Parts: sequence; structure tokens; C-alpha cells
Amino acid sequence: MPSLDKNYPFLMKYFSKGIQNPDKNIAHCILFYGTDIQAQYNLALEIARMLNCTGDHTPECSCLNCRWIRENSHPAVMTISKVDNKPANDDSKQVISIDQARMIKNDLLVSSDYHRVLIFCDKDKDGNVCGLNETNFQEPTANALLKTFEEPPSKTTFFFLTNDKTDMISTIVSRAQCFFVPSFKEEDRDFSIVKETMAGYLSLERNQVLDLNDGILNLTKDNEASIVFNQIQNYMTELLKSNLENRGLKMKILHDINSVEKAKRELRLNMNIQTIVENLSFELML
Ligand SMILES: [Zn+2]
Repeated sequence: MPSLDKNYPFLMKYFSKGIQNPDKNIAHCILFYGTDIQAQYNLALEIARMLNCTGDHTPECSCLNCRWIRENSHPAVMTISKVDNKPANDDSKQVISIDQARMIKNDLLVSSDYHRVLIFCDKDKDGNVCGLNETNFQEPTANALLKTFEEPPSKTTFFFLTNDKTDMISTIVSRAQCFFVPSFKEEDRDFSIVKETMAGYLSLERNQVLDLNDGILNLTKDNEASIVFNQIQNYMTELLKSNLENRGLKMKILHDINSVEKAKRELRLNMNIQTIVENLSFELML
């Protein structure tokens, strides 16, 4: 999957470096968020491949483990969804069930020669991977696995794929290392509405914060606020791509993307839009 290296150099570098470490130094629980769930799934598979490779450790390696994972038929790399890897006699069709959670827990008690990777996600009726939310991955199920997530057996990694961190049960978010996975799908890249308002925001002076505030607030009068926030994130993602070499700027933009994420969460909590935009504008000035 060469496009992963190209689209996600930051993430790929981070994980391959961790995996090359003799202790396979990556988190046990990894949460990906963003609108392109398929890209998150591909990333998780690629990381699973790197963790299990017994060949030459190149992206093109054709050892048995790498081949299995490319065909998504590796015995230790499992998709966990409401339709995948369910126990027999489990007739729940809409959720990752508690029985399923118990089965996973028991399966993990048996030791494995492989590095086990469990990818938690959802599927639509056509079998496309979708994001977890509090409907398809409910609190009792998560609770049944909480201990396992906290102290997993050795050589085990859990991935959680979701559109938005706020869709996930907070007990999972707090135990996972979270990574924003930008989307490169055309429809997810539009920032035409916010382009003018956001242009040059990185070089604004502190005393111009009110201008930014008014600009964003005006946008939310003519457009749905959630669309405005999504487009601001799209705009920042574009900025991020052109500033990957500048560490300081990169960290600043990642911080800003998270600030917009916070604004989206506040919007969902029905907070006053003026307050949300004000908070956001100040955070972007930090
Ligand atoms: Zn290999």
C-alpha cells in the first residue's frame, strides 16, 4: 500500500520507528479518528503487517505473514465488528455484543506466536468499514473488555476506528493513544467556504483575534456550523500537508485541528455558537 507512505508519512514514520524498537514500542490501544474509515483500516492492517513480518521488513515483503495480511486472512489479525468474528449462537446483528467481548477475552488467554491485532470497527450493509459509535459499540461491551485493554497479553494491539473521538465511549478514548487520520477523499477536502476567512490565520497577531472570531461567526450565520468546522479542519489538513517538514508549525496545526474538534463537540452539546466560536478563536491564537 504505497499510498499510505505518501499520504500519512507522519503516522507511518511514527509506527515503523516504534515497531523497529526491540520492545515493539507502540501503544496497546490505538484510536484513529477522521472521516476516511477505510484509510484508517488500511493503516491498521499495514501496522499489523509490520508487527508480524518475518521476512525482509520492506513494504513489498512477501513472507507468509505479509501475504496473509494483504489478503486479510491472517489468523491473528482480526476485524471485530457487529458482523465479523461473532461467537456461534450470537444473534445480535446491530452491535459488537457482550458475548463477543467475552469470546475475545477468552481467546486472548491462549498464547500466540503471532502479534495479535484486533481492529474494532463497524460495517455497513454492503460490507464497507465504518466508524464505531456509542450505538454499535456500547458501554457494557467496552466495560467487559476494559481490563483486557488496560493490561493486554503480550504481543497484542487493539485498534479503534471512528469518525470522531466524541463518538467513542470516553473510557476507551482515555485509555487509547489517539491519532487524527486526515482524509484524502475529494469530497472531504473542500474548504471553499472558509478559505478566505482562514487565509493567513497562522500569522495573525494576538490583537486580531476578534477579527478571526467575527469572520468565523459570520460564516456560521450563512452555513451550518458543523460544515464550517469541518471545512476549517480540511483547510488545516491542507496546511499540514505543506508544512510536514516544519516541526513547530506541524505541532501547532495538529493542536488547532484538535481545537476545532473541541468546537464540534461543544456544538453537539448545544452550547451557544457565540461562545464556541469565541473559545475556538482564542485557542487558535495560542
Ligand atoms: Zn514480511
